[in-house]
Amino acid sequence: MANITRDFFIGLSNNRFLNTQAKKWGFSLGADKFVAGTTVDSVMEAVKALNRQGISCTLDNLGEFVSDKREASEAKDNIMTLLNTIYKENVDCHLSVKLTQLGLDIDQAYCIENMREILAKASQYDIFVNIDMEDYSHYDQTLEVLDALRNDYDHVGIVIQSYLYRAEDDMAKLKDVRVRIVKGAYKESEEVAYPDKQAIDRNFLKLAKQRLLGDTFTSIGTHDHHIIHELQAFVDENHIDRDKFEFQMLYGFRNDMQNNLAHEGYHVCTYIPFGDDWFGYFMRRLAERPQNMNLVLKDTFYTEDNKLKKGPIAAGGAVAAASALAFWCVKSNQHKKKTDAEA
Ligand SMILES: Cc1cc2nc3c(=O)[nH]c(=O)nc-3n(C[C@H](O)[C@H](O)[C@H](O)COP(=O)(O)OP(=O)(O)OC[C@H]3O[C@@H](n4cnc5c(N)ncnc54)[C@H](O)[C@@H]3O)c2cc1C
Repeated sequence: MANITRDFFIGLSNNRFLNTQAKKWGFSLGADKFVAGTTVDSVMEAVKALNRQGISCTLDNLGEFVSDKREASEAKDNIMTLLNTIYKENVDCHLSVKLTQLGLDIDQAYCIENMREILAKASQYDIFVNIDMEDYSHYDQTLEVLDALRNDYDHVGIVIQSYLYRAEDDMAKLKDVRVRIVKGAYKESEEVAYPDKQAIDRNFLKLAKQRLLGDTFTSIGTHDHHIIHELQAFVDENHIDRDKFEFQMLYGFRNDMQNNLAHEGYHVCTYIPFGDDWFGYFMRRLAERPQNMNLVLKDTFYTEDNKLKKGPIAAGGAVAAASALAFWCVKSNQHKKKTDAEA
């Protein structure tokens, strides 16, 4: 059942039609629990609030399905504006970017040029830029782009996904690169990725421990308290300097744990997505943890004292919204298959 739910939401996240429609709907379906607004101003408020609690931030200006140079160039311009704002506002904050948003699917050389522009400005401002890792079809290209950029810039890092069999070998080649370790968010084939959670968790711990014993800064990107507790014990046993790593978590997730870790003197960084292209990101979060749907529904339809906000109409609305999503997904897949068959 868990796999069916996961596949359902991953399917929705990959649905181009729904992603486009969602931009027109504006912020809805409770996405504001996990996405910090659609504008730079709204995200800056969130950054400042977290900074006041001793938590640094990394910003992701959301963008999915970029397929022409105009969109990629617009995404790059938005990121340049964001860099200016981070610098001007003097907040404790760096950037996370996705290469597909900057034209990886259009032309790798063009994507590298966009990244060069971003990194030139970021290094002028002393702001770090992390490249998010996307699905496996972009994996080799992403590492190639990083390689090309590392010749000229050192303010750039990458993500290693512990669900991939090759993660350890690839990480070994990145000894002097800042790395974020995560479990991996996409649906991958058993040919390239561990299918079961225990193996992914074991590999996460193995990779994180290897990095913690090395010299380069590492971000530990997880909400998993089992992993976090085991790594805290490992750090103590091995007298590892807390300045060599940080815990990273997503905006809106386990806020208490983020605050507690910061109070205990660990570096904590919150990954904050924002922008009107929120749908795919939001669906991937529901895929990971269907309980997130409860949070969203509860927040959308119930008052704080657990009363339905708008009675049965609201409950019906929830069901209708979920059915509409499913219907749209099926319809647009049928349409795509028909178009592909005709092409
Ligand atoms: C900062 C950050 C950046 C990321 N960047 C990328 C990226 O570039 N590429 C990519 O593929 N993926 C990325 N991810 C997503 C990542 O790959 C996982 O899909 C995601 O983090 C879910 O895995 P998890 O490690 O948090 O733990 P899970 O395996 O989801 O959860 C493990 C256990 O932790 C507990 N738990 C988890 N969440 C909660 C919660 N909200 N409340 C209460 N208990 C909870 C539960 O007991 C659960 O069983 C990123 C994640 C983070 C945190």
